[in-house]
Amino acid sequence: MFDALAERLEDAWKKLRGQDKISQANIQDALKEVRRALLSADVNLQVVKKFVADVETTAMGADVIAGVRPDQQFIKIVYDELVQVMGESNVPLAKADTSPTIVLMAGLQGTGKTTATAKLALHLGKENRSCLMVATDVYRPAAIDQLVTLGEQINIPVFEMGTDTNPVEIACQGVAHAKETGVDTVIIDTAGRLQIDAEMMAELAQIKDNVKPDEVLLVVDAMTGQEAATLTHTFNQQIGITGAILTKLDGDTRGGAALSVRQVSGQPIKFVGVGEKVEALQPFYPDRMASRILGMGDVLTLVEKAQEEIDMADAAQMQEKMLNAQFDFSDFLKQMRLLKNMGSLGGLMKLMPGMGKLSSDQLEKGEGKLKQTEAMINSMTAEERRNPDLLAGSPSRRRRIARGSGHSEREVSSLISEFTKMRSLMKQMGQGQMGGLPGMGGM
Ligand code: GDP
Repeated sequence: MFDALAERLEDAWKKLRGQDKISQANIQDALKEVRRALLSADVNLQVVKKFVADVETTAMGADVIAGVRPDQQFIKIVYDELVQVMGESNVPLAKADTSPTIVLMAGLQGTGKTTATAKLALHLGKENRSCLMVATDVYRPAAIDQLVTLGEQINIPVFEMGTDTNPVEIACQGVAHAKETGVDTVIIDTAGRLQIDAEMMAELAQIKDNVKPDEVLLVVDAMTGQEAATLTHTFNQQIGITGAILTKLDGDTRGGAALSVRQVSGQPIKFVGVGEKVEALQPFYPDRMASRILGMGDVLTLVEKAQEEIDMADAAQMQEKMLNAQFDFSDFLKQMRLLKNMGSLGGLMKLMPGMGKLSSDQLEKGEGKLKQTEAMINSMTAEERRNPDLLAGSPSRRRRIARGSGHSEREVSSLISEFTKMRSLMKQMGQGQMGGLPGMGGM
């Protein structure tokens, strides 16, 4: 997602490259590109106008920072504005002082409301919050069945009264049942329509009046772009929402909805749906989303994950070694294990700038290659690991490693030559001969 937006924003940064500072004159073209990029990502026009105006004001008031190029500074300003538009920090789901917390789900048909109901219940379960899901879509028996099936799948109870009872009544009885059984949170799934219609709105309003929910979450389909802004605005005006769940962010969305929701409703996106599976729900973090939009990868998540695994002093030492070409096979092995601890290579690569587009086939190959490499390094002696040059000059050592690791001599030779190449590349970087790795966005 957001690939196109990130690419277009690149054009904005380019307009400022080579300038020595941001000025009223040179920033206009960059702002035009930002505007164009956001509009083509389907961000609501009013949101775009305000965004661009705010970026301009901040940029004009910004002091020149020593060592920071104007285009970098501009990226930072746009990043900060993106974060602000989306709400600065994660807003967790409300928790009522006395149980149960009542969550009312609203949204059009097909947006992923029923799926989101189950996803949310599963998510809360992981936080030790027990849930009851209530099925009130009496117009589509299939919707009730869908929730019941999902409930069985995730082992969370569903309250339903078939299709002959009034939805308001079902919601009230569901809440009463939740109180009796002492669950922490009751999530009420409601009927959607293909379009906003007066009857649906009236019913939602009635349920809301009767059960007095702690949260009214609007489920918004990220694929709907502009439409999402109008929808959010209308629901908020007519029903009053407390937040949104943005679904289908895993799809080929242009992303505009993520930027519009809070601006048009004043309410935050609390969760995002990133797949059809019940596990595919994540809390929404504006800062992480902003760095994704800028195509800088989800560096924050990456750093957090890395911090859990590495001792920072160790990391600094490792970097020093890399840059001085003292990086050896033991270090390499350490790095690989670290990668493994941090999760699958696939998951990790998606977070890296410019790497999100690898196919699962390519990733699988990558994971397989990592395993092979590890086996070969494991077959080296301590001395060989420390001094890779020993291997380059000795076919008999390479033969022994090949035999020990169950690989061909050609594979061992190719590992050694790739490693040597990588080391000299690192050394060049250390000596400042390269501007950074390709695809790393100059970071
Ligand atoms: P409802 O009519 O609003 O209750 O929508 P459903 O929950 O039945 O979902 C409609 C369709 O969207 C189903 O095929 C879901 O599997 C799919 N869906 C829901 N959430 C997501 C998501 O986050 N990503 C993707 N790719 N599909 C989703």
